[in-house]
Amino acid sequence: MAFRAIDRRQSEPVSEPQKILVVEDSRTYALALSRRLEAEIRLPIVVCQSLNELHEVVTEDRAAFTMAVVDLNLPDAPRGEAIDFTIQRHIPTIVHTASFDMETRNRIMERDVIDYVPKDSAFALETVVGTVKRALANRLTRILVVDDTAATRKLLAHMLKVQQYRVIEADSGAEALSQLQADPAIRLVVSDYYMPDIDGYELTRRIRRQFASDRLRLIGISSSSDRMVSVGFLKAGANDFISMPFIPEELQCRIASNVETLEQIEQLHSLAARDALTGLFNRRHFFEHAGKLIEEAQAKNLKSAVAILDIDDFKQLNDSYGHDFGDQALAKVARYLAQSVEGSGHLLARIGGEEFAILFPGLNAKAALRLSDHIRLDISHETLLVEDRPVTLTVSIGVAEIDGTGKLDQHLIAADRALYAAKHNGRNCVHVAS
Ligand code: GH3
Ligand code: MG
Ligand code: MG
Repeated sequence: MAFRAIDRRQSEPVSEPQKILVVEDSRTYALALSRRLEAEIRLPIVVCQSLNELHEVVTEDRAAFTMAVVDLNLPDAPRGEAIDFTIQRHIPTIVHTASFDMETRNRIMERDVIDYVPKDSAFALETVVGTVKRALANRLTRILVVDDTAATRKLLAHMLKVQQYRVIEADSGAEALSQLQADPAIRLVVSDYYMPDIDGYELTRRIRRQFASDRLRLIGISSSSDRMVSVGFLKAGANDFISMPFIPEELQCRIASNVETLEQIEQLHSLAARDALTGLFNRRHFFEHAGKLIEEAQAKNLKSAVAILDIDDFKQLNDSYGHDFGDQALAKVARYLAQSVEGSGHLLARIGGEEFAILFPGLNAKAALRLSDHIRLDISHETLLVEDRPVTLTVSIGVAEIDGTGKLDQHLIAADRALYAAKHNGRNCVHVAS
């Protein structure tokens, strides 16, 4: 079990070199933007102050740029030539511009840019940084586009790809349903209304039977002038509706807002499941998930076991060095435990002050005892550095086998009794419930 909520999307490999290009003739603005970008996204930034310099840098450092933030007007590129250049070189481009009006907007949107940000307010810098972050995150977000008309589907797919999303296409409702089954990582569906096999409403209803709105977002599209089409979609369970022909900015904002909602929900789920001090799963998560793991093992005719670990004489550590020091020591022990069980399929949680639980699905008491004793011994040999002070701690562990009868809390009570016996026997040892 991982120590922290590692976002699956962040752990996916990114093959290209990550470097951001800032093309901006104002030295002050370029510096301020580079600093903010570096701080927020921790990628190296390369600044060019003219089209000339851009030519040189990109030619030297071929294909090394993951994204570019480009000023629309440069002294040697007054008509957006720098944007044409980055786009020709397939560098995804965000435009920022001091002058902004409809004509400028149209000039920018003729090109395949991710977005544009007018430099017209104190928030412009934040907006650029936010746009870069959004676009980078989009690369790991899968969107399914469903439309029987190839031209519309291709156009939409192209617009979303410019936004850096990973796009999957389906030319019918049935195909969409099978794509969703095959790829559980799809986060958003954009669906047409008129389709020969299943129409958009029916597809929405069928999708909603399987995927709730906190897991998969759905946006309806249609070129119909009948305003009731959007109502039909929303009532069937869609989250939003976009009329065709698309206005790129509207499409982009509505899609981004739905993706952000999902991210916020995920963040809330993670906050609710984890303990703030240690980043481990909390008691609630442990109880919510242990049952299913035990059942899965039982279905394979396997027993399971649960262990409770309690740090020995922890009060003394607090009394000697203070509560904050104790907190840091706890976090270190937690990290250590997380590393010991990482990737094993065991469920680790902090269930109380200096108490942790580990569920060993599929392991009987004997196997769990062996593993627990390893963990105990390793911890006792480990020197933890807390505020530069070397600390050694020991843990006592109680183990109980889960035989299929009784509730999880009864097994935990048994493990707790075994823990008590371990404490009674001098600590730094493991006991198994009889
Ligand atoms: P034993 O070996 O019998 O377990 O002794 P102990 O001192 O570890 O156990 P006891 O239950 O007497 O005390 C537990 C201590 O753990 C007391 C409490 O202040 C401390 N503690 C519990 N939660 C936290 C926490 O979140 N942070 C800190 N710093 N201390 C904590
Ligand atoms: Mg203790
Ligand atoms: Mg205790």
